[in-house]
Order: sequence, then C-alpha cells, then structure tokens
Amino acid sequence: MTVTSYALALGSNRRGRRGSPAQTLAAAAKALGVERLSRVRATGAVGPAGRGFANAAAILRSDLSPPELLEALKALERDFGRRPGRRWGPRILDLDIILWSEGSWAEPGLVVPHPEYRRRLFVLEPLAEIAPGWRDPLTGLTVRQLLARLRKGRPVDPGPART
Ligand code: ATP
Ligand code: CA
Ligand code: CA
Repeated sequence: MTVTSYALALGSNRRGRRGSPAQTLAAAAKALGVERLSRVRATGAVGPAGRGFANAAAILRSDLSPPELLEALKALERDFGRRPGRRWGPRILDLDIILWSEGSWAEPGLVVPHPEYRRRLFVLEPLAEIAPGWRDPLTGLTVRQLLARLRKGRPVDPGPART
C-alpha cells in the first residue's frame, strides 16, 4: 500500500469558534494530523475584533484520493464554522489542495496542482519552508524555484490547463 502525500494551503481571515485566524489554522492542522506545518503568517489587527488573516502550508500523508480528501477538507471547513458564501469574502477556514505526490488530477470542481499557487506568495513562501524541493509536475520546477521566479516578478505559467 502506498501512502501518498499532499501539500495543503491553509487560510483564515475571520475569527471562528476556535479563536483568531492563527489559532484556527493551528487547530485545523492538529485536526488533520498533518506531518509538517509551516510557521503561521498572521497579518493585520489582532485583538477582540479579530480582524486580520493568517496563512500557512502543511504536508499531509494520506491514502485518500484527491476527491476524497477534498470532501474531508470541506467537511472540516464546515465543522470550523465556515458558511457557504462569496468566494473572496471573509471565511473562518479555507483548505486548498496544492500538490499531490502522485502528480496531477483534473475533474470538474477539482484541479491539482492548484491552478493559482504559482502566483501566490502566501502559498509559496510557507510551502518553501517545509517542502522546498517538491517538484511541480506541470512545470518541472521545484517549489523553491517557483518562489524565486515569483519574487522576481516572473511567475511561471504552466500553460492551458490539461484535463
Ligand atoms: P482559490 O481556489 O482561488 O484559492 P477559494 O479557495 O477562495 O479560491 P473556494 O470558494 O474555497 O475558493 O472553493 C471553490 C471550489 O474550488 C471548491 O468548491 C472546490 O470544488 C474547487 N477546487 C478546485 N480545485 C481545488 C483544489 N485544488 N483545492 C481546493 N478546492 C478546489
Ligand atoms: Ca483558497
Ligand atoms: Ca478553497
């Protein structure tokens, strides 16, 4: 039996029942039983108002297929109090699948590698802390290389999505 690995992006920009965005991410990582967790980057006002946001990356070992894992992640988001809403609106917990050790996956509603992660510092920076050598299956570049390119203002575009 092969245990596969996933790279996940964790985000929160709203207080929930587990506390501040940073506390929410720590609790989510614990609930998932992740193998590695980056530092949590918290930005913005802390305090009773609970504004601000937090981002982190994690490595999870799991035998679930990508669609099975996505279901589990969505269930955890709901459990943490996330309600369906606007895509870019405030959310207590956002869990995205960024990379899968077995390569790529594409079906309606699920694309891995995550189509946007190569242009997102808030994903690549924490991921480079815990998995710098992980190679993107579409571009052949490592996470460290993708981050360097993005920092130079030249994010890597893998081209049209292949399904
Ligand atoms: P983005 O994906 O650009 O970060 P988002 O996380 O804010 O946006 P959501 O509203 O959380 O978007 O999710 C919209 C849908 O994206 C989900 O219902 C899910 O089916 C789909 N999706 C596609 N690929 C992935 C992936 N790799 N990880 C998580 N969700 C995905
Ligand atoms: Ca997201
Ligand atoms: Ca999401």
